[in-house]
Amino acid sequence: MTRTSSPQSAPPPTDPGRRRWMAALGAAPALAAAAGSARADTVKTRAHIVIAGSGLGGIAVANRLSKRLDGARITIVDAKEVHNYQPGYTLVATGVWPIDKVSDRNADFHPHGIEWVKEMVAEFAPDTNTVVTTGGRKIAYDFLIVATGVHLDYAQIEGMDLKAIGSNGLGSVYPNAEAALATWNAMDTFRAKGGAAVMTLPATPLKCAGAPLKMTFMLRDRLHQAGTLKDSRVTFHSALSNVFGVKAVNDNVLQRWKDLGIGVEYTQKLVGVDIGARKAVFANPEGERSTVSYDYLHVVPPMRAPDAVKNSPLAWKDGPFAAGGWLEVDKGTLQHRRYPNVFGLGDINGTPRGKTAATVKKSAPIVADNLVQVIAGRSPAETFDGYTSCPLIVREGSAMLIEFDYEGRLTPSLPMIEPLQESYFAWLMKVRMLKPAYQAVLKGRV
Ligand SMILES: Cc1cc2nc3c(=O)[nH]c(=O)nc-3n(C[C@H](O)[C@H](O)[C@H](O)COP(=O)(O)OP(=O)(O)OC[C@H]3O[C@@H](n4cnc5c(N)ncnc54)[C@H](O)[C@@H]3O)c2cc1C
Repeated sequence: MTRTSSPQSAPPPTDPGRRRWMAALGAAPALAAAAGSARADTVKTRAHIVIAGSGLGGIAVANRLSKRLDGARITIVDAKEVHNYQPGYTLVATGVWPIDKVSDRNADFHPHGIEWVKEMVAEFAPDTNTVVTTGGRKIAYDFLIVATGVHLDYAQIEGMDLKAIGSNGLGSVYPNAEAALATWNAMDTFRAKGGAAVMTLPATPLKCAGAPLKMTFMLRDRLHQAGTLKDSRVTFHSALSNVFGVKAVNDNVLQRWKDLGIGVEYTQKLVGVDIGARKAVFANPEGERSTVSYDYLHVVPPMRAPDAVKNSPLAWKDGPFAAGGWLEVDKGTLQHRRYPNVFGLGDINGTPRGKTAATVKKSAPIVADNLVQVIAGRSPAETFDGYTSCPLIVREGSAMLIEFDYEGRLTPSLPMIEPLQESYFAWLMKVRMLKPAYQAVLKGRV
């Protein structure tokens, strides 16, 4: 079956506030300095702290703890040496940034004096306070921070081949910087002629749930710029009954897509792809399958906890986060609910929302402080509200800054940005200001 959607309409008018936002950019450094400040007091301890994962969360908390703990031993376990600025992937994948802007070296951000084990954790054994690495090394700890991020479960999509991204109209922004660039190459080729674009969304929790929407807005904008929009149709296939989990954002995006002529199909889960034949297979909740032909396909994989966490005693055993094997933390303190010497940080946490870099910015100081309290023999005192944020690009030169908490309440933090209103300033934040802010988080400065 080949589906159709309504024809594309004209783009929204240029943002009239562009010059005002340019002026406001002068205040950019305040963004990095505003939220969260390193707590001053230090604690003397000989405790051994193991941090699993050397992404944004792992490095941010290592930097904070190395300032707060006098005499502690800190070990980071992660084989990955390249540090990717993942929020930049959507910019690479839509032709805004070159690839070299999203890759740095983890070593440049690690605090001095820590130990780095360049292996993965294969097994978490919290009953004996040890982790076992892929090389078979047993590492004992007094305290553990789990910051392993998510596992991209492409294996759930029959026929999917990561090596094919970039060819045959196949895109997927998520896996790595190279895939993001290959996704742009496929989009660039596609927009020359246009045709049928199929964008997808799985049913699982996602890191940056705005990224599939950004890719859709930008694909449509690239078609418009290339003059091939009239020969194209863009359809978003959601495995859910919405396109975003926060109702106000969902309603806003759907209204925009209606105006832009982007079609939406609900409860359609991508379960297979025939890359050579350019056919995508979807299943509805009853298990009925339908095949959709495409000229361009954007694959967003289901996401879950990495096996080492999912198969460990640290994972949720029941409730909404059990199926994905997410880490069982208290959503306020981010302390493990059954192992009090374990904390979780970032995308791995089994909490209602909060899989963005902005979440780590707000929660790394809380995890560091609560761990310091526990080391000092006190109870965790800081509570996280689930702050989640992403600048939702709506076209080149315009974005909306979406900020919300666990309850899905909008929590705007910058006076010059109206939630759900697109602006040039939000776009400038995304392309110019957020990488320096991200690096300040990594270094434990904000
Ligand atoms: C396409 C895309 C767009 C995004 N856009 C935005 C945005 O606009 N705004 C925003 O705020 N956020 C955005 N994000 C999300 C943001 O990048 C993540 O939320 C953030 O990186 C989470 O940090 P983390 O430390 O939890 O995970 P990561 O930074 O992913 O790090 C996890 C680390 O754990 C390691 N690891 C995995 N398994 C193991 C193991 N078994 N043992 C040891 N180490 C392990 C990995 O190698 C990795 O280094 C985006 C992400 C993507 C992919």
